[in-house]
Amino acid sequence: MSILVVGSVALDSITTPFGRVEEILGGSASYFSTSASFFTDVNLLAVIGEDFPQEHVDFFRSRKINLDGLMRVPGKTFRWRGRYEYDLNEAHTLETQLNVFETFNPQLPEDYRRAEYVFLANIDPDIQREALSQVSSPKLVACDTMNFWIAGKREALIRTLALVDILIINEAEVRQLADEPNLVKAAAIIRSFGPQTLVVKRGEYGVLMFGEGSIFSAPAYPLEEVFDPTGAGDTFAGGFFGYLAATQNTTEENLRKAIVFGTVMASFTVEKFSLDRLKEINYQEISDRFRKIKLLTEFADLN
Ligand code: AMP
Repeated sequence: MSILVVGSVALDSITTPFGRVEEILGGSASYFSTSASFFTDVNLLAVIGEDFPQEHVDFFRSRKINLDGLMRVPGKTFRWRGRYEYDLNEAHTLETQLNVFETFNPQLPEDYRRAEYVFLANIDPDIQREALSQVSSPKLVACDTMNFWIAGKREALIRTLALVDILIINEAEVRQLADEPNLVKAAAIIRSFGPQTLVVKRGEYGVLMFGEGSIFSAPAYPLEEVFDPTGAGDTFAGGFFGYLAATQNTTEENLRKAIVFGTVMASFTVEKFSLDRLKEINYQEISDRFRKIKLLTEFADLN
């Protein structure tokens, strides 16, 4: 089953302890779509400015990502400037320029409106809600957000969360959104806002998934070199939701498998800048890492 994703398509400028780049392809929807496209068809809804390089559009097309909902309008593309210190788990935002997203009023193409699997990638929660309202009968809705929107548009975000089945955010954002330092208590508070399932991204420490009466923990794939963590969260979400949409199965067992696929996809993204590593990999490499994570967490039962 195909996925509809709405989110940012961006030009990122990033400094890590290992290098620096200017205006490379980024954005929550870019990472999500590319990652999910390994599992299923993706319909992308976003806006870009006149300055967005055609080569990036051609790349999306080469991945068979449907671009009927990618609007090019007068003005400048969304830009994000970030920096990481040696603790790569924390991104420091230096600058966010919404540009064409400031006035973006999403209009879904006709065939996008029939979507059953909808991913609201990190973007203004009002845009997320407007896009979702045009989908006739969504079956599974997942959502991501970040500190920028939790701080700046809290009320709008809470309204969006009431319509969402699965929320995928990082650990610091869980505490910020719930206004509660204990993660288990914070998860319960956030689940009371709407999402039955909360997926907490913890960078190099892996992922925790909170459901009704269940908690699942998956480690991150142990990498010797992490080059640039930008996009890890969106790539995780693409693998996770891509697998769920492809299998159309949301049992606890399948959700856990989806978490591991997300973890594997994110492990590739952080090895290079931008989508460069995702451009190289194939499904064989994905399944190899999946099996390695399974071995990593296997141990004997009590007897
Ligand atoms: P992450 O997966 O959390 O590392 O997401 C990184 C991507 O999020 C970058 O490529 C940015 O372009 C994008 N981004 C940063 N800030 C925002 C924002 N406020 N709204 C939407 N996208 C953003």
